[in-house]
Amino acid sequence: MKDQSNTLDPAKFRDPRVTAKGEQRATVALGDPQTLWFNTGTLCNIECVNCYIESSPTNDALVYITAAEVEEYLDQLDQRQWNVREIAFTGGEPFMNPEMIDMTRAALARGYEVLILTNAMRPMMRKSVRAGLEGLQAEYPGKLTLRISVDHWSQDMHDTERGKGAFARTVEGMEWLRDAGIPMAVAGRTVWGETEADSRAGYAALYARHGFDIDANDPGATVLFPEMDDRADVPEITTACWGILDVSPTSVMCASSRMVVKRRGAAKPAVLACTLLPYAPEFELGETLEQAERDVALNHPHCAKFCVLGGASCSG
Ligand code: SF4
Ligand code: SF4
Repeated sequence: MKDQSNTLDPAKFRDPRVTAKGEQRATVALGDPQTLWFNTGTLCNIECVNCYIESSPTNDALVYITAAEVEEYLDQLDQRQWNVREIAFTGGEPFMNPEMIDMTRAALARGYEVLILTNAMRPMMRKSVRAGLEGLQAEYPGKLTLRISVDHWSQDMHDTERGKGAFARTVEGMEWLRDAGIPMAVAGRTVWGETEADSRAGYAALYARHGFDIDANDPGATVLFPEMDDRADVPEITTACWGILDVSPTSVMCASSRMVVKRRGAAKPAVLACTLLPYAPEFELGETLEQAERDVALNHPHCAKFCVLGGASCSG
């Protein structure tokens, strides 16, 4: 039966083993870990409309992770022999964390590529951080990429989400990164309903105007994110869905990554299934990477909406 209502049916996404209709819920195995994410803390220098992790200058639900804690997980990576290629950092605004440069160096020194998600605003532009980034780029050229949040290619739309003057600040930061030769990617949003082609053309023009070496047509270099609406109704994902949709369980994020977070008041960091569900207790898999090797039950609307269905439906 097709879902008719727009609001989420409360009978859905309750039991990790079975769906509301009693069918076996789909699970995903950590088949080929490629990326280990660290959340550096939820504090952010700004407060955007619809920030999926509810970051702000006062939200410290996830506190600053330390370089020593990151090192400990990098040791575990060696022990577990995960085939990880990349260490990625997200926030909040990662450059608010006083140990961001040290954490990045720790990952680069072990041979990983590093990705940092940032708004490229004032926290990144502090003198000490810029000196740190320049040093890392000199020591590990091309191994560090900063993915900058540019919600929309136009100043007006971007500032609607992020506050007046935000676009100009971010472009300033990107110009500094350009001059420092530090590789950049961009994360944009699709909230405005323009076509993907129009959106990519807009980003291409922005990059050309400022001499940014970013490919607007490469979905890995200019990543366009859909909006996350928790309330909309979505079908549940059963084990039969993979075949019906011709989607492989290996294609979803929890098959190839995990995220380490530190909750306020917690003695130790915890490992989550993915970056999309930082506050859902069921997706916290344990304190160690070994504990986090277990399968993930797709028991959240985000699993259906963002990871598996991609706009399609597999409910009969
Ligand atoms: S800059 Fe990023 S982390 Fe900070 S409030 Fe905006 S969307 Fe959230
Ligand atoms: S939202 Fe669900 S399916 Fe998607 S990566 Fe996270 S746990 Fe996996």
